[in-house]
Amino acid sequence: MVAIGIDLGTTYARVAVFQYGKVEIIPNEQGNRATPCFVAYTDSERLIGDAAKNQAAMNPKNTVFNIKRLIGRNCYDEKMFQDVKDWSAFDAAVVCARVKFDLDLKDEEKLLISPEEISSLVLIKMKEAAEAYLGTTVKDAVITVPAYFKDVQRQATKDAGAIAGLNVLRIINEPTAAALAYGLDENLKGERNVLIFDLGGGTFDVSIVTIKEDKLFEVRAAAGNTRLGGEDFDTRLVNHFAEEFEQKYEKDLRSSPQAMRRLRTAAEQSKLILSSSTEATIVLDALYEGVDFYTKISRARFEEMCDDLFHSTLDSVEKVLNDAKMDKSQIHDIILVGGSTRIPKVQSLLQTFFGGKSLNLFMSDEAVVNGAAIQAAILSGDKSSQIQGVSIVDVAPYLLEIETTGLVTTKLMERNTRIPYKRSIKFTTSSDNQPFVNIHVFEGEPASAKDINLLDNFLLYRLPLAPRGVPKIDVTFDVDVNGILNVTAQLISEKATKLRVRREDKIRLTLVEVVCLSDEAKEYAAEKEKERQRIAAHNQLKNYVLSIKQAADKAGNELDHSDKYLVLKKFKETIKWLDANTTTAEKEDYDYKLKELTKICSATLAKMQLSADGSGPQPSYCGKQSCNNVGGNYGGSAVKEVD
Ligand code: ADP
Ligand code: MG
Repeated sequence: MVAIGIDLGTTYARVAVFQYGKVEIIPNEQGNRATPCFVAYTDSERLIGDAAKNQAAMNPKNTVFNIKRLIGRNCYDEKMFQDVKDWSAFDAAVVCARVKFDLDLKDEEKLLISPEEISSLVLIKMKEAAEAYLGTTVKDAVITVPAYFKDVQRQATKDAGAIAGLNVLRIINEPTAAALAYGLDENLKGERNVLIFDLGGGTFDVSIVTIKEDKLFEVRAAAGNTRLGGEDFDTRLVNHFAEEFEQKYEKDLRSSPQAMRRLRTAAEQSKLILSSSTEATIVLDALYEGVDFYTKISRARFEEMCDDLFHSTLDSVEKVLNDAKMDKSQIHDIILVGGSTRIPKVQSLLQTFFGGKSLNLFMSDEAVVNGAAIQAAILSGDKSSQIQGVSIVDVAPYLLEIETTGLVTTKLMERNTRIPYKRSIKFTTSSDNQPFVNIHVFEGEPASAKDINLLDNFLLYRLPLAPRGVPKIDVTFDVDVNGILNVTAQLISEKATKLRVRREDKIRLTLVEVVCLSDEAKEYAAEKEKERQRIAAHNQLKNYVLSIKQAADKAGNELDHSDKYLVLKKFKETIKWLDANTTTAEKEDYDYKLKELTKICSATLAKMQLSADGSGPQPSYCGKQSCNNVGGNYGGSAVKEVD
């Protein structure tokens, strides 16, 4: 059966098929090779693609777009709310959270739909276009995502495919797909290091791929920003024009979604014109309260207002070179992908960075979908000579860490590790008769702790009851070819027993409720976040005190009587305090207690010569956002075992 490739972009989706030895881009029912990722609800129907985009200015509140920027994101993400506000759209269409807020949703007008479902509607449209073109049903598909998409965003995209009734053969990275199309299309000589620079509507990716003569595509490193693209340049223009309008007419058009939508469309058009001309004109009759808005914008002014955004792309280029341990001079080809790479300033900055090297505008809009179609053909066993022997080695651009008892983190996977990647770690329990073990996985950038986020909780449950330290649990962390983390665990006894693992998506707020845009919901989200932090602080303190007691017990006679007495005294005091104050104490109270305790016990802990590799508790605690380990108390903590 034929398999298709889908480039599910922020602004446009594209679909293609590889057959008879070449890629064919499949047009939609309007005959366009790209379908806008827009979904709209009118009184009578649901519109997808061009039809939805065309009516956006008339129906801004029920027209949903830019969903790729919401998929897999955390509900508490302030920046995300700001993004949605900037687009000034769909506050009535409700994108709902998997973790449902207890909001009063009686309002029949409100429509509950998740980002996955919205994306799935676009995917269905692509599937239908392919079926009409090929004259057969289509099930198998490869879907592309930005290389910089994290585990949750990848999983959510895969879910969207499943909701659309597709069998997702693989989630592949957009720059890798572009490299694949480039490497097979050109008659390349020798080994080449190719830098793929993909600046689209909402995301920015940069990867270095080494293409070897034997059709091996090896991704050396990937970097980027999942919230940088054409939409951000449009937002800068919209803000500029809205201010200009206010200054001229003393009217604030920002309160009108219709006017804002019209302005945004005009702003985007002027941006496109500025890629080929040095000036663009805006003509919007009766834009707001009957006032016409006619104005001009120069390319120089546009470049000035987006200067920081344009320059930020170079930071990622430097980072990817660093990560690949390469010098600029080692890059043979620079491939531009994505609509926003047509901006002259973006091109000139990049070209200057590479000392005037020429840029390659190879199929800039369609390279990604081309590569997706090729990958789909490879995975479905197409025997064409062009794709025989192609192999791809990709990387995960994020790092993973796990947190065990005493809030010690252990690096699980470095950034830019080749995937698939598998690693096993042995754990044991930290208290007697512990029924489950809770493992927290973080992902992010190593450079700054604030960018490290709790990815997920993995709960290993139904452990056989035993004294602490007795159960030996082998946990395997497996980042698959899609860049998605899977966890399995087994109990090591005479007979290895598979343990049940549950991914706690209590924290993985993949679906977002745009109802949250209402003040009431934002307040609710803030309250939830406060409570989550409070519980996390409670657990930090409890874990800490338990771990020092455990360490003191383990140290036995090696520890002075007086030190042991001090630890036990502090342990008892703290547990008593925790029991008495669990419902009333605030986050600050727990933090204060923990700080005090750390101060008092650090000297004693130093004497115990605790190793920092997670085999024992740490005298300091990690300040990262911890997790909502409700009910985790004694039962939940895991201890990484000393080999
Ligand atoms: P995505 O893959 O994220 O959906 P695309 O690669 O299709 O995005 O690019 C769409 C973006 O490129 C839009 O923001 C669009 O405004 C912008 N774009 C397209 N053509 C041009 C151009 N000539 N000049 C500047 N920006 C452009
Ligand atoms: Mg794209």
